[in-house]
Amino acid sequence: MPADTHLQGIAMSQPKARQTLQARVAWGDHVVTVGGDAPVRVQSMTNTDTVDAIGTAIQIKELALAGSELVRITVNTPEAAAAVPHVREQLDRMGINVPLIGDFHYNGHRLLTEFPDCAQALSKYRINPGNVGKGDKHDKQFGQMIEAAMRYNKAVRIGVNWGSLDQELLAKLMDENALRAKPFEAKQVMYEALITSAIDSAKLAQSMGMSANQILLSCKVSGVQDLIAVYRELAQRCNYPLHLGLTEAGMGTKGTVASATALSILLQEGIGDTIRVSLTPQPGEARTQEVVIASEILQALGLRTFVPSVTACPGCGRTTSTTFQEMAKSIDDFLRAQMPVWRTQYPGVENLKVAVMGCIVNGPGESKHADIGISLPGSGEAPAAPVFIDGEKAMTLRGDNIAQEFHQIVETYIEKRFG
Ligand code: SF4
Repeated sequence: MPADTHLQGIAMSQPKARQTLQARVAWGDHVVTVGGDAPVRVQSMTNTDTVDAIGTAIQIKELALAGSELVRITVNTPEAAAAVPHVREQLDRMGINVPLIGDFHYNGHRLLTEFPDCAQALSKYRINPGNVGKGDKHDKQFGQMIEAAMRYNKAVRIGVNWGSLDQELLAKLMDENALRAKPFEAKQVMYEALITSAIDSAKLAQSMGMSANQILLSCKVSGVQDLIAVYRELAQRCNYPLHLGLTEAGMGTKGTVASATALSILLQEGIGDTIRVSLTPQPGEARTQEVVIASEILQALGLRTFVPSVTACPGCGRTTSTTFQEMAKSIDDFLRAQMPVWRTQYPGVENLKVAVMGCIVNGPGESKHADIGISLPGSGEAPAAPVFIDGEKAMTLRGDNIAQEFHQIVETYIEKRFG
């Protein structure tokens, strides 16, 4: 070690905290708080026809078991509104107490008034101020939805989206901008319109008697830099809890990366109290993938822990077989599949750290950092896989059943430590 080395005390990195109000989204005795000191909540949305109450309830159950703490459903027609109480009943029968959010556009004022059982069965209403009616009708119809929320004691999200932005407001701000000596860019005016629409609607709801504590806001756009700009400003201008998500994020890798990039930057700044990843499912892909990604974003930032983490090396020229890839995947799948049961059976199991490494270079070192780690043999190494438990080498596995034996070791460890 060089003689002049000295310890400098490098600053730790962690997400900032933002002070917000706290909303309570409840179903029966089950309350999901959002904002304030609550952890950042994961939410999702179904893509079933809500009229199909059974199919919708099944998908909600899958989303809830995957870790979604709130689930939004489309309520677009009288038939869908009539089905909502049946969806709720099915869930109650299955013991799934996740609160439901109704997603309303255009006719929400009518549906919430004409279908009181629907209004009651939902725990929160999403209101898009760009889609509640134009001109004189806007405030009246918006007010009808707020009245329903107050009558049934429900939270609301005032959810603005740049795809359905209040055009009258945008036109007004554009005119105002044109009169400036140095006009802002059109995009900046659009940002202003999104934020103004959300905050003015919240103030209007409060002027009608709605408690500020029951209002959440969102201003969704589909560009990463746009989302960052809008939410930074929105967070400055209000203390309502914020629903954060990149709208129309896209499919597969693109949608995942874009969402993770935008959300992580904002969450690190303390912005965002509940998140949704708006991923377009690839054909055959489970709807729950959006919940997995949302949870992984929060877990990667150290904001929440949902499932045991599996550290795996990327592999390189020292691993010529796919053994360690298969093993990393099999242990990851195994841990995720067990979580719905383990979550209640083994409190704290989500903090477990497992390492599956490909060779001796970093394998033993990384394995020692994990609670349980296995270092598989790389090309040319002896066919033996040392297992490390709590930083100590505990055993060496050999032969064709290394994966199964390792599963068993992990399970035994979990029973002993968290049981
Ligand atoms: S641990 Fe070994 S196999 Fe894995 S990336 Fe590093 S050198 Fe390659």
